[in-house]
Amino acid sequence: MAESKKWVYLFEEVAAAEKNAGSWEGVRGLLGGKGSGLADMTRAGVPVPPGFTVTTEACNEFRKTGQFPDGQWEQMLTALKVVETQAGKKFGDQSNPLLVSCRSGAKFSMPGMMNTILNIGLNDKVVEGMIKLTNNPRFVYDSYRRLIEMFGTTVFNFGDEVFEHPMSEIKARKGYKLDTEMTTDDWKALVGTFKEAFKKQAGFDFPQDVFKQMELATKAVFESWDGKKAVDYRRETKISDELGTAVNIVTMVFGNMGDDSGTGVAFTRNPSTGDKKMMGDYLLNAQGEDVVAGIRNTDQIENLIKTMPEAYHQFMQITGKLEKHYKDMQDVEFTIERGKLWMLQTRNAKRTAKAAIKIAIDMTNEGLISKEEAVLRVTPFDVDTLLHPQFDEKAMLAAEKSGAYYSIGVNASPGAAVGQVYFDADTAERMAKQEKQKVIMVRPFTKPDDVHGMIASQGVLTSEGGASSHAAVVARQFGIPCVVGASSIKVDVEKCRMSVDDKVVEAGGWISVDGTTGKVFIGRIPTVEAKIEEQTDLLILLGWADELAAREDIRILPDGRKAPGLQVWANADYPKDAQRARSYGARGIGLCRTEHMFFETERLPIVQKMILAETSEERTGYLNQLLPTQRKDFDGLFEAMNGYPVIIRLIDPPLHEFMPDEEKLFEEVVTMRVKGETKGLKEKEDLLASIKSLHESNPMMGLRGVRLSIAMPEIVEMQVRAIFEAAADCTKRGIVVKPEVMIPLTGTVKELEWIQPRLVRIANSVTEEKRVNFHYKFGTMIEIPRAAVTAGEIAKLAEFFSFGTNDLTQMTFGYSRDDAERNFLVTYVAEKILPSNPFQTLDREGVGKLMQMAINDGRKTRPELEVGICGEHGGDPDSIEWCHMIGNNYVSCSPFRVPIARLSAAHSALKFSGKKIAEDK
Ligand code: ADP
Ligand code: MG
Ligand code: MG
Repeated sequence: MAESKKWVYLFEEVAAAEKNAGSWEGVRGLLGGKGSGLADMTRAGVPVPPGFTVTTEACNEFRKTGQFPDGQWEQMLTALKVVETQAGKKFGDQSNPLLVSCRSGAKFSMPGMMNTILNIGLNDKVVEGMIKLTNNPRFVYDSYRRLIEMFGTTVFNFGDEVFEHPMSEIKARKGYKLDTEMTTDDWKALVGTFKEAFKKQAGFDFPQDVFKQMELATKAVFESWDGKKAVDYRRETKISDELGTAVNIVTMVFGNMGDDSGTGVAFTRNPSTGDKKMMGDYLLNAQGEDVVAGIRNTDQIENLIKTMPEAYHQFMQITGKLEKHYKDMQDVEFTIERGKLWMLQTRNAKRTAKAAIKIAIDMTNEGLISKEEAVLRVTPFDVDTLLHPQFDEKAMLAAEKSGAYYSIGVNASPGAAVGQVYFDADTAERMAKQEKQKVIMVRPFTKPDDVHGMIASQGVLTSEGGASSHAAVVARQFGIPCVVGASSIKVDVEKCRMSVDDKVVEAGGWISVDGTTGKVFIGRIPTVEAKIEEQTDLLILLGWADELAAREDIRILPDGRKAPGLQVWANADYPKDAQRARSYGARGIGLCRTEHMFFETERLPIVQKMILAETSEERTGYLNQLLPTQRKDFDGLFEAMNGYPVIIRLIDPPLHEFMPDEEKLFEEVVTMRVKGETKGLKEKEDLLASIKSLHESNPMMGLRGVRLSIAMPEIVEMQVRAIFEAAADCTKRGIVVKPEVMIPLTGTVKELEWIQPRLVRIANSVTEEKRVNFHYKFGTMIEIPRAAVTAGEIAKLAEFFSFGTNDLTQMTFGYSRDDAERNFLVTYVAEKILPSNPFQTLDREGVGKLMQMAINDGRKTRPELEVGICGEHGGDPDSIEWCHMIGNNYVSCSPFRVPIARLSAAHSALKFSGKKIAEDK
């Protein structure tokens, strides 16, 4: 018979595991995080109780067949023999018994999601032996009742109350508050009660065969991988279901043998602030799970120095060593048995965003890790979290305790928001703008018409929808804290109130919404502002990130030249946005949308007249009125971005967007006619007729972008004049300007051939008139598939490309974004027809491929072609990586996302350092 596979590794066999698994990553996959940590500590000479690990491969076999794979049980028994020798005890022996724990442990830690059973190996007879051996019957009965309890609840899935009821009953009867008040006789009596309870529930006696105990416990741990809790947790954290859990059989050490014993957990640094100070809790005379369960008030780790100085110093020395070994903050479990310290677990600790950054920087300064490693350890999500106002952590805990907790949903856009609730966008906006209230807009879900209400709000809360719902997407785009899909909340839009059971919040009521955790509270929880200039650690880290991305040899261009990584620019329409962008580290403006400037209250009437003008002269007349204000807008932008490029996009939307709402106007006209009012009727009728004449059945694909510029060149001629006059004025004031004029929605080079020379002539005439010289560019957006496909031609005129990936995605897929997000995208993602929402994460295979093609063809025509992206994807880490791979010069995103993009650009630079830019094949 062929020898069976190796399913079991003793802690000493870590070298063999490494050999079989090929790498340390492989060992972690095979033995799980806990098992590999225990084995690694054993190798390093750290005191770890003897034990062995059953592999995740065995678990996965078991999950398929419901049976241990061939050879596993025999290998466990063989390993147990070795452990017996090492421990000097024997499993099931009455005079000198070995007890073990049976612990779960997957590759990635899933705290509390799977099972662990302690004190395996106790039965009625072993108990007698243990009592003789330890002379401590109280401890022995306590341990035995724990085994029965854990066996019942975890192996046989009894409800907690099966054992909790008898326990609280005895405590109540005796008037005890704490478990420590229980006497030997109490524990002994409880063991009897527990055994009866067990039999009643299970229909058979608690298993006295210790090997049966080990077998059942091992199976239960394997099965707990597929428990509901564990499965849900993996969904949330995107851990694969395929990994399986290992089982660790570990010699028991006892923290409950008296006051010279204890148990605890500790972090080698402060996981919430990152401060380099051990933080932990311990309990004397207790077993591991007591610390976490919070049944007694724990002591702080530094107090251990008083009660057990020797163990304390050894502990500090070991944890110091572990940090150096893993080059990361550790989260450890330990137990002290009669003065002797044992380490029971070590793993890289979870931490807040703030701590992640501080620790990465500190460890770099301590020489433990490199700057590259430090940058890699911080995630874009960490940065995101730090830049939104945060709830004061203590206040949030207090609120939770005081019953202010209301609901929880998907944490769609991070940050803290406090405000008064309103249930429709108009009211939300009115309360915010006119009444100057802080507002939270609450809706079942949001639609594009709700955006104005959202923007006016501090935060947004919906009871339906997920992370890619409209509310979530818009909130992230504007940096508004948002919780979506808080399904316990019933939103009654008609009655203007919401409720969770009998807790009702009426319009105007205060709530606090935490977009970072998804929690919602009633009332006002104090927040702390996130100011980037105060976040010194973040600034240092982002500085390192910029340095890394700016290295000259990050990318190799197709022609062999070397190039740096991505720069990060920002989309900003107003000088104040540009200033913010700059303070967040943007190196240019990648998109300034000029149409916003037409919407301002004083300007809109002129804009409308301009649109309705019947002759070119008339139109130019109105445009001349707009020119000075446009010039002022650009002036402010150039000043704010002194020294950096500013890309200004010429007018893009269809004209009807600037006109009054057709339906409303129609209603007004009809009402006037019915009432027989004549005053002003004629004007309204004319206006209505004009609006009707502008009507398009699909305006987004109609007269807009460069098409509009060709139909009415006067508008863009005015814009270009304003841009160059402002640039000239700024230059005279000593400001360094780098204007780049961007023509939107090009589909064929012929469009550029028609419009661009006219605009260049204006540019030249302004610089000549004003006698100034500065560098400028004319370029285009690539947002129509045809433009991407004919990019080689387009680059003959365009000096730069900017991918408008919102439109490019719409047109490549043939989806209208609003309709898609409202109607079918959620289903598509759920059914895995699409891997994710392509409006959030760039579709590399389709849209991305078009971009890649456009860059390659464009640069064949014009090697120095500057390439950027200004769609929402410019702030999305995964999409940024793609832009790096295909050779973009920069990504441009909302000012709020600039820090995230800087980190992502550095991550891409590190991941692909020195690699050739991916060419399409
Ligand atoms: P979790 O992954 O939920 O933390 P563990 O397997 O680490 O589960 O065990 C739960 C508790 O039991 C921990 O406090 C741990 O330290 C303790 N424990 C586990 N095995 C032993 C052992 N052999 N001796 C003493 N305590 C143990
Ligand atoms: Mg643990
Ligand atoms: Mg567009």
